[in-house]
Amino acid sequence: MLIDLHSHTKASDGQLTANELVIRAANRQVDMLAITDHDSIDGLAPAQQTITDNNLKLTLINGIEITTNWLNHEIHLVGVNIDPHHPVLTDLIVAQKEKRENRAIEMGLRLEKAKIPGVYEAAKELAGDGAITRAHFARHLVEIGVAPTFQKVFDKYLSRGNTAYVPHHWVELEEAIDVIHQAGGQAILAHPNHYDLSNKWMRRLFTEFKEFNGDAMEVAMGQQSPQMRLQLAMWSEEYGLLASQGSDFHFVGRWRDLGKALHLPDIAKPIWSDWPSYQALAITEEIL
Ligand code: AMP
Ligand code: MN
Ligand code: MN
Ligand code: MN
Repeated sequence: MLIDLHSHTKASDGQLTANELVIRAANRQVDMLAITDHDSIDGLAPAQQTITDNNLKLTLINGIEITTNWLNHEIHLVGVNIDPHHPVLTDLIVAQKEKRENRAIEMGLRLEKAKIPGVYEAAKELAGDGAITRAHFARHLVEIGVAPTFQKVFDKYLSRGNTAYVPHHWVELEEAIDVIHQAGGQAILAHPNHYDLSNKWMRRLFTEFKEFNGDAMEVAMGQQSPQMRLQLAMWSEEYGLLASQGSDFHFVGRWRDLGKALHLPDIAKPIWSDWPSYQALAITEEIL
């Protein structure tokens, strides 16, 4: 069974519409897909509509990826099986979107000072109705040839300490976990190895995440060494966290794809084992 619990649409910085994303997932034989846009739930309803209209064999999990603050680190928190319209979650999304907008304006001003004008407007155009992210800035900066690749644009302009990096006061990790719980969901620490933390700090993050009642951590990602996957699985077990997996799909590329190369090491306890939506699928597979 193919399970992918981390993906993006045009509701944030994904390049496919929700519609296109679920059709791609179904074509790739994904059984269960969570859409987890940055601080947005806007992809969920159109995705479910497409699944229903086309009778796709795909179970959609309502998700979100919230940017949070933990001891001055930007930590991403994935929420799954949320009620997307829970008022506490709605309030958080409104606040985060406003922060994104203010940060984007400030980024634009900094780039203007660096003699690269009009980037805010262009990024806004790329983001459309979706949550504006640094990825939109990066796409435009690559388009106008400021740097050759996405990665180089981040390294030179957009990542911490660089020209257009604007530190921001995102929701606290502990509070975001609580919001996910209030909205009926489970809270997953996203890609723990992407924060440039030493092992010591990583352990501190796992300890506090657990103390904050976090439920799970991502163990399997699309592009990852077997050693890293096993290490994350061991940590999930050590800290009493369930394990999740997801491609973090943003666009069709050479290496990453929906449901691709995702499976958990045996020692990890999958977050989905006791989900009714998963059990229904498991039963169907047994009968077929
Ligand atoms: P934001 O949430 O606005 O800070 O934007 C974060 C998004 O930018 C991430 O979800 C990635 O899609 C992308 N991103 C962040 N850091 C990098 C990086 N170093 N290289 C490439 N893409 C990045
Ligand atoms: Mn992203
Ligand atoms: Mn992330
Ligand atoms: Mn993501």
